[in-house]
Amino acid sequence: MPPFDLKGCDITNQPKVYEVIIIGNGPSAICLSFLLSGYRPYYNGLPHSVPFLEEKLKGLKGKSVVESDLYDLAQGLEGRSLNPVAVLFDHMLHPDADHGALNPSLLTWVYDRQHEIPHLVLGKWSPGGSWQQMDGNLQTISISNWMELPSLPLQKWLNKKKTSVSEKNRKDNRATVADVRNYYCDFLKEKNIYKNFRNGYLVSSVQKVLDTCEGIDCESGEAMPCCQNVKADHKFLWEVRGHKVDTKRRDGQEPFPHEDFCFQSNSVVLATGTTDLPNRLGTTGENLPYVVHSLKAFEQMITKKEIASDSDPVVVVGAGLSAADAILMALENDISVAHVFRVSPNDSSLVFKKLPLSMYPEYHRVYSLMKGKEVNDLYKPYSRHQVEDLQKDNKVLIKCLKNSCNISTLNTSLAVVLIGAKPNLAFLPQEGKYLGTIEKQSIDSKHNPIQVDPFSYEAIKEPGMYAMGPLMGDNFVRFAIGGSLGITNHLIMKAQGK
Ligand SMILES: Cc1cc2nc3c(=O)[nH]c(=O)nc-3n(C[C@H](O)[C@H](O)[C@H](O)COP(=O)(O)OP(=O)(O)OC[C@H]3O[C@@H](n4cnc5c(N)ncnc54)[C@H](O)[C@@H]3O)c2cc1C
Repeated sequence: MPPFDLKGCDITNQPKVYEVIIIGNGPSAICLSFLLSGYRPYYNGLPHSVPFLEEKLKGLKGKSVVESDLYDLAQGLEGRSLNPVAVLFDHMLHPDADHGALNPSLLTWVYDRQHEIPHLVLGKWSPGGSWQQMDGNLQTISISNWMELPSLPLQKWLNKKKTSVSEKNRKDNRATVADVRNYYCDFLKEKNIYKNFRNGYLVSSVQKVLDTCEGIDCESGEAMPCCQNVKADHKFLWEVRGHKVDTKRRDGQEPFPHEDFCFQSNSVVLATGTTDLPNRLGTTGENLPYVVHSLKAFEQMITKKEIASDSDPVVVVGAGLSAADAILMALENDISVAHVFRVSPNDSSLVFKKLPLSMYPEYHRVYSLMKGKEVNDLYKPYSRHQVEDLQKDNKVLIKCLKNSCNISTLNTSLAVVLIGAKPNLAFLPQEGKYLGTIEKQSIDSKHNPIQVDPFSYEAIKEPGMYAMGPLMGDNFVRFAIGGSLGITNHLIMKAQGK
């Protein structure tokens, strides 16, 4: 049986029908909403270092890129994404970025209301998605213009925001997290697409329902008289249900549910990112009050002075960038840290090895501490150790993996577990597992992304459902937004019967 069972249409209380509903309101969704709102990209005639791409763009002769043959345009291009449309979009928005160039975009954007595709963006927090949940003072890993959305250069926007409180933290052409989220919010206002956003709307179920109704006016939202009988050639609609939540709560907890909502659409786009469910150690005691699983929660405890320099050491678990951010945050506040990680500091998989020292001195500082090259009284590394037990009396038992009999006890004020995250697709049947490259396994950006057509971004296992961003394997904003080009192109072609 297919995971989506067709349900009947509730004709008494007809929900508003949109052409597209986007779930998630991060940069992927914002960029898609921008295109669906009627903004069209045209080649502006600037040269490109790939001659065959420049020739093909010239050949469009004034036709918008989003209405062109993306398969043809993307042929032969190379870039740091496996998705051809993401690579194509990136070549046009950031020509030669992989060679370190900061060239202007090849696209001019023109707004035409006639091109608008009625849509709705539903997001749990304020616009900006996961950028709303990170500590604002941190710097981005990417250089600032790789975080930008089309037609609003981030550097120009930053230059205007000279008074920003986060200005002191901007270094080496890298923006702060606060900059990035403010930029995404401003983008909605500048492009006048705010009206499509419903923030503080948490989706709890997506299901297929029979499209038994006629004449729903998307503009006014007024329910027109419904057909009493299911049409013989009936198609389905997506019914998206959930409840409103308070966007201001940002303490790493799930928001408190308020009023319910229900909308319907012809297409649904999953743009929920992959950071909603922090990975867990799976040991006992993980729900104890002294254990947190987000940087945000740690930051808030420091701000509220619940953890300070006279507290017992904080145990930070993990060897990625978030764990490094937690260590930097602790050291900045004179809080001592016991750093527990499973791998050797020389392990080739460590992310620090891939970051140039000149651009990421802070992460290299943590890396030096992990290797013991730099010594700090406030920091103690426990490499090749894993957490065995989190005990009630704020004691963390750790086991040495070099010598498995060796168990040590750490007295702690707080355990900060930062070992990655997964998407929360509980609103889909089987938590969306049937959509993945490896069926029946949880969706995850690296090992099991949602399987989509590489040009339309339509889910292979679920026509009418699309996925973009980290959910289908594009982790960085620079490439995550490629889905907006592919999806809009596909919707246009479908409407034209192509
Ligand atoms: C610590 C950290 C640092 C990063 N640094 C960089 C960087 O420097 N450069 C870079 O390019 N990328 C970076 N990334 C990755 C970047 O965050 C993502 O690529 C990008 O945000 C993906 O955008 P998105 O819109 O697809 O998803 P997200 O930004 O994750 O937004 C999706 C939103 O949808 C919400 N949502 C989920 N489920 C529901 C639901 N059921 N109902 C309503 N809303 C829902 C989520 O809560 C989230 O707010 C970083 C990520 C992290 C975690």
